[in-house]
Amino acid sequence: MTKKIILLSIFASSFIMAAATSEVVTGPDGRLVVTVSDNNGRPEYKVDYDGIPFILPSALGLDTDMGDFRSGMTILKASPVENINETYSIPNIKKSTVHHRANSRKITFARDGKKIFDVIFEVSDNDVAYRYNLRPQGESLSAIVLDEASSFVMPEATTTFLCPQSLPGGGWKHTYPSYETEYTLDDKMGKNGEGAGFTFPCLFRNGDNGWMLINETGVDQSYCGSRLVSTGADSYKIAFPQEKEMKGLGWTTPGLNLPGLTPWRTITVGRDLAPVVESTVAFDVVDQLYEPSIDYAANYGKGTWNWIMNGDGAVNFDHEKRYIDLAADLGYQTVLVDGLWDKQIGRDGIEKLAAYAKEKGVALYLWYNSNGYWNDAPQGPRGIMNNSIARKKEMKWMRELGVKGIKVDFFGGDNQPMMQLYQDILSDANDYGIIVIFHGCTLPRGWERMYPNYGASEAVLASENLNFQQHFCDLEAVNAATHPFIRNTMASMDFGGSALNKYWNTGNKKGGSERRTSDVFALATAVLFQSPVPHFALAPNNLSDAPEWAIDFMKEVPVTWDDVRFVDGYPGRYVVMARRHGDKWYLVGVNASDKPVEIDINSVGIYEAGKTVTVYSDDKTLAGSVKQVKLSPKKKIRFSIPKNGGIVVMD
Ligand code: CA
Repeated sequence: MTKKIILLSIFASSFIMAAATSEVVTGPDGRLVVTVSDNNGRPEYKVDYDGIPFILPSALGLDTDMGDFRSGMTILKASPVENINETYSIPNIKKSTVHHRANSRKITFARDGKKIFDVIFEVSDNDVAYRYNLRPQGESLSAIVLDEASSFVMPEATTTFLCPQSLPGGGWKHTYPSYETEYTLDDKMGKNGEGAGFTFPCLFRNGDNGWMLINETGVDQSYCGSRLVSTGADSYKIAFPQEKEMKGLGWTTPGLNLPGLTPWRTITVGRDLAPVVESTVAFDVVDQLYEPSIDYAANYGKGTWNWIMNGDGAVNFDHEKRYIDLAADLGYQTVLVDGLWDKQIGRDGIEKLAAYAKEKGVALYLWYNSNGYWNDAPQGPRGIMNNSIARKKEMKWMRELGVKGIKVDFFGGDNQPMMQLYQDILSDANDYGIIVIFHGCTLPRGWERMYPNYGASEAVLASENLNFQQHFCDLEAVNAATHPFIRNTMASMDFGGSALNKYWNTGNKKGGSERRTSDVFALATAVLFQSPVPHFALAPNNLSDAPEWAIDFMKEVPVTWDDVRFVDGYPGRYVVMARRHGDKWYLVGVNASDKPVEIDINSVGIYEAGKTVTVYSDDKTLAGSVKQVKLSPKKKIRFSIPKNGGIVVMD
């Protein structure tokens, strides 16, 4: 499995012999191969799959306040291969039981014989994960990491599917950067988004050879979140947060206690998109950071959300009461009370609503502004979640009312002090048995496993944009056919959608944004978009104006999953995939392309022959219907998904 290649070269001028060492780490099935070397003193790695180059020789290394360790380095030693073979259970991701098999090696880089850092590689059948362990140097027991050299040089034919990093200071009341920009799909390499690179995860297509999803995981308060910036026609590298994030008051270069571990850089590789959709690498390589104070899985469930159709002005006692009734009628567990409740409902009002909800078997989620001094968003409550004393007092009050969760919005970027805030909110909330949803925020990086009371994050152009602008309604299917391959495959996504209103407003009246997608599409996204704590954009009028079968499905649809399977698709065009809850498979698809997507339910290999399945499908005019279909082994059971339509099959 390992080999050592000694290359000799002679410097003509000095006759000094320089040796380059290479070390190899191979995935358990032998197809994914990582080669690490010290080429002329430059720490390097490359990634091949089935002998095909996916990452060409690319830099490793760190520049720190103790020294620049990006060149002048040699491989001193490499640990033997350690076989990782573990099974873990996790209730809040795409798969409830994960069997993680990987090969791990620690490659130690040195200068002048002194150990500087190790690069720890974990290679599974389709995922490469690596991180640095920076060692103490002399009296230095702490370090500032000024730059991380980690780069990704790609074959010439590579095309990109990327989400530009937004520039700080823009957006609603200077709340950027949040991960809320439009993807560019099937684009050339060599571009740099809006000038600041791209947010994770980043998807690349290696011509006809396959796909590659680059991400990071295991980011907590001991580092910052990173992004990917273009560094040439065919290369990208890790970059730290932008200077003006958090109004320029946070630091961009992370500080580390030594020895100190950086977050994991991950590369998911496949000949098709199945490894990308089914990957659990974001969770495989991280640990749970504290014990849950309660059984959070018992509190997972669906909720309603008044603000999404009705806006700021409708966050009032009567409207929220109506949405508590709606939640109760649907058999949902929660109601999310959005921003401005402090002014428009008041604490007494919230206490009355919580009591009313309790009678109906429903619990509240409450919205908070994250700030602080890093945004000018007027929505309150403000100045609580950034202050540990006020925060704990507030959470004690919430626990007394039976509040199940909070939604904290408008964060200030990806720098280390912001990561500290995310972790502090999560840790305090766990002390009070509260689930946390983040909005206007960064991508969660392994947080489902690290923080047991973590719920989900926005970090996407979510359903609010369907309400704000017709443009996003026109592109709803394109985006829905993108997220399962990128944003939502690496982390839970709080999208807040599955609307059954034709128009995004109170009472479903003609005017404002008009939905282009079908009702079956709405049902399909309830399965497609994974979060254990979704709040759907359903409205009280849907109980009378939406098809009965659609409401019945939205009552029944699970929020936790035991397994996932990719069936077919192409980012931005269409997706067909299946999720299993218990012994029941939900096969769903949506189509954004002009060409109808044809599915033969028999040939997807999910349902046993002879089984009777329920199929929700659209006709050419996007009119939905539901029927029972008996599968027979010889017959093709063909369905077609029209543009902006969907399909849902369940047994
Ligand atoms: Ca938002």
